Order: sequence, then C-alpha cells, then structure tokens
Amino acid sequence: MKLGLFGGSFDPIHRGHVAPVQEARRRLGLERVLYLPTGQPPHKTARRVAPPLARFAMVELALLAAEGLYVSGHELLQAGPAYTVETLEHFRAARPDAELHLLLGSDALTELVTWRRWRELVEMARLVVLQRPGWSPSELRQGLPPEVVAAIETGRILLLATTPCDVSASRLRDHLRRGETPPRGHLHPLVLDYARKYHLYDEEPPPL
Ligand code: ATP
Repeated sequence: MKLGLFGGSFDPIHRGHVAPVQEARRRLGLERVLYLPTGQPPHKTARRVAPPLARFAMVELALLAAEGLYVSGHELLQAGPAYTVETLEHFRAARPDAELHLLLGSDALTELVTWRRWRELVEMARLVVLQRPGWSPSELRQGLPPEVVAAIETGRILLLATTPCDVSASRLRDHLRRGETPPRGHLHPLVLDYARKYHLYDEEPPPL
C-alpha cells in the first residue's frame, strides 16, 4: 500500500495544507496521508508557535471529514525535536509493507539539503513536491543543487503540478492577531473557531 506522510507546524492548518494533499493523494493512489504536526519545529524557533496539542487539535478538526487524511501524534510524542528521517525510520519499521511518500511544499524542497541525513531520507521515501504559488516546477529546478536535480531525474523526487493554492500560515496569523476574519475558505470554520476560542494568535495569549 502507498502511505503518504506530511509534516509541518500547521500553525494553523489551512486550505493550502489540505487541497494540494488531497489532489496528490488521489492522483498518486495513496491509501492514506498522515499529517504529522511537529512538536518543537527545528527550523522555526524565532517566533512563538502555538502549543503542539492545539496544533494537533486544529489538524484533526480540519481533516475529520476529509477522506483518506489522518493526523498522527508521532512527532509530538518525541522527547526532543523530531527529525524527518527518524520519522520515516519509524514508519518503515511499523509498516514494512508500505511504500512511503513524503509530501512537502516547493519552498521546503529548496531546504532539503539542510535536513538531517537527507540522502537517506530520499532513499526511504519518494518525495512528492506540491506546488506553491510562485514556484513553477521549471523555476524550482533551476535553483536546486545538482544532487537534488539528479533525484528528480530518477523519479525519487516528484515535482507534482498540483493546483497552486495561495494561502500561507504567516498571513493567516497576521489576520488573526489583528482580530480580522481571514479570507473565506482559507481556514476551516472549526479551526477558526478554535483559534479564536483559545486566543492562539493574540499578542498575549492567556495561559490555559
Ligand atoms: P508559513 O506560511 O508560516 O511559512 P507553512 O504553512 O509554510 O507556514 P508548515 O505548516 O510547516 O508551514 O507547512 C507544512 C508543509 O506545507 C510544508 O511542506 C509547506 O511547504 C507546505 N505548504 C504550506 N502552505 C502551502 C501551500 N499553500 N501550498 C502547498 N504547500 C504548502
């Protein structure tokens, strides 16, 4: 069976995290995709990140009715920062029958060579790169190191021309911080209710 894994801070989860993944799942015949909210995002320490359990809850609210999309607490339950390669090792051991597919946005692919043991990672899972606005597959290739381009040529990294979805978590946080309603459809209504109820993106969130 083909299993998709999709890691991120999901702070908060938005349409750009769901529509391209559902499109990829259907096009590639992935039986399911597991969303893996990060506990302590290794690359995003400069700003305050909403609590891991709140991000997990928002992912579940957004995906509850979505066919084939699930949330996993695996990375949240690790003691230290979770590295993607270790997450892949975990799922490879837990599901030896599964053909692993690691989904990521085009911006994330440009940072791949900075990831821990990235070459092994590409051997353990096929990377599926979802298009983000402003990153067409041909432009994206131009800025990549030769080793990554070689992996695209062998098919270990697949640049999938998913429908671009112009939504970003940082812009949504700005809307919420200012007390504005984000553009329609960018956030699942339950996620919006949750973020507001717990004041997740207020300047000074109250202690829970
Ligand atoms: P920010 O906007 O704050 O940078 P982000 O949404 O990029 O946040 P994450 O939640 O860590 O940050 O993203 C999880 C994954 O989703 C990453 O691989 C990212 O590239 C991808 N992604 C995020 N937004 C989109 C989008 N609009 N279209 C396709 N992929 C996306």
